[in-house]
Amino acid sequence: MDSKERLAAPEGKSRIVVVGAGLVGLACAHALADEGHIVTVVDREGPAAGASRGNAGWLAHTDIDPLASPGMLLQVPKFLSDPLGPLSIRREYLLTILPWLVRLLAASRPGRLRHTVEAIVALNSLAMPAWDRLSAELRIGHFIHRRGGLFAYDSAADFARDREKFARQRSFGIEVVELPQAELRQMEPSLSDAVVGAAFYPEAAHVSDPRLVAEALAGAAQLRGIDLVKAEVTALAAGPGVLLQLRDQAPIMADRCVLAAGAWSRKLARDVGDSIPLETERGYNVSFPDALPGLSRPVSFAGQGFVATPLTTGLRIGGAVELGGLALPPNHDRTRALHTKAQRFLRDLPAFDSGTVWMGHRPSIPDSLPVIGLSRDGPEVVYAFGHGHYGLTQSAATGSLVADLIAGRPSAIDLKPFSPQRF
Ligand SMILES: Cc1cc2nc3c(=O)[nH]c(=O)nc-3n(C[C@H](O)[C@H](O)[C@H](O)COP(=O)(O)OP(=O)(O)OC[C@H]3O[C@@H](n4cnc5c(N)ncnc54)[C@H](O)[C@@H]3O)c2cc1C
Repeated sequence: MDSKERLAAPEGKSRIVVVGAGLVGLACAHALADEGHIVTVVDREGPAAGASRGNAGWLAHTDIDPLASPGMLLQVPKFLSDPLGPLSIRREYLLTILPWLVRLLAASRPGRLRHTVEAIVALNSLAMPAWDRLSAELRIGHFIHRRGGLFAYDSAADFARDREKFARQRSFGIEVVELPQAELRQMEPSLSDAVVGAAFYPEAAHVSDPRLVAEALAGAAQLRGIDLVKAEVTALAAGPGVLLQLRDQAPIMADRCVLAAGAWSRKLARDVGDSIPLETERGYNVSFPDALPGLSRPVSFAGQGFVATPLTTGLRIGGAVELGGLALPPNHDRTRALHTKAQRFLRDLPAFDSGTVWMGHRPSIPDSLPVIGLSRDGPEVVYAFGHGHYGLTQSAATGSLVADLIAGRPSAIDLKPFSPQRF
């Protein structure tokens, strides 16, 4: 197919190229195909190559706290004193990430924080309805499991201290049930005695496996005529139309482009006029494909920086935040450390060496809000990246917001907090 052919689109519809076949790009592609646009998705590796492949699988719309909160910042010195702790900065990356850290600090000011939480709540209110629509349309509802999620504590004092947080969550309409140890034990017998209680979020959900979901989105995309192209986009230029330069292949022209290249979006956004403080929070996990999950629902362990998710493909233990950019190799001592911690909380956890390790790049903006909006150089390029810890949760909602932007109609929520020009 040559570039001229790609430009042809039915009357009133556009030829749109989505860069990135992660969960966000694929959800955007479906939302745009729903509107009758001619959609091509370009990914340098193919579907689900990035963070969407191995994440923890939570549909965590009940989680409304940004990364930058005073509580988190108070814990930073403790975290940083442990190189394998929940948060670490790779020494060789410290200078590079400094400006991002300064912005993170600024984002944690109480006034800013309140607006951020309101924006997260607004976006998350669209998350499950959007997943319900998308999964019904593509008949992939069986990948979504609605058994809630747990936030577990090994300290009664920490559990009591977080009552304030639960009250705040309830004030946003989120259901939180406080479970003492005995009730929790009945619900999840595979949790050890180290867990003294948990907050239960009945509305949370999880997926069978994020890779399966992304592959199902990609398969359904092909069936409905969305073109999936394996190519690396090396440069973007906007107006009139969009010109996408590809590595070792002829360029593509399109009417519009959606930039959904996750943690790799920064350079391409700069090409079309925007300097976005996008960094990556690297996360790690180990999965045990042959293990019987034991758990019925995902569990996050307070203050430990890891979660356990019973995927249908096995048990996944993972988390941690490592600030180390896109190029440094993974440090799986970190994954081993997560597993060692998890042994305290989960009975019969398989040996580390029987699992498969993975590292992924969360695309992270210091204020924990994704970038959803039009590029500075013109409306031809629409951004959909920077979903940090919640890209699976927020991907379907992002798809419908991107479709609204491309149609030029008002969106379901105020998009100002997500503007690419807010920095
Ligand atoms: C350990 C871990 C656990 C997580 N757990 C959860 C969770 O439980 N729930 C949740 O909601 N979120 C979770 N997340 C976050 C979530 O995985 C991400 O926010 C989400 O996957 C981002 O999706 P994306 O499509 O924007 O990016 P990605 O999935 O990273 O996809 C970007 C795609 O762009 C392609 N690409 C990049 N550059 C180019 C280029 N120049 N040309 C062509 N293609 C390009 C890449 O190959 C890639 O396929 C977790 C993340 C990690 C790391």
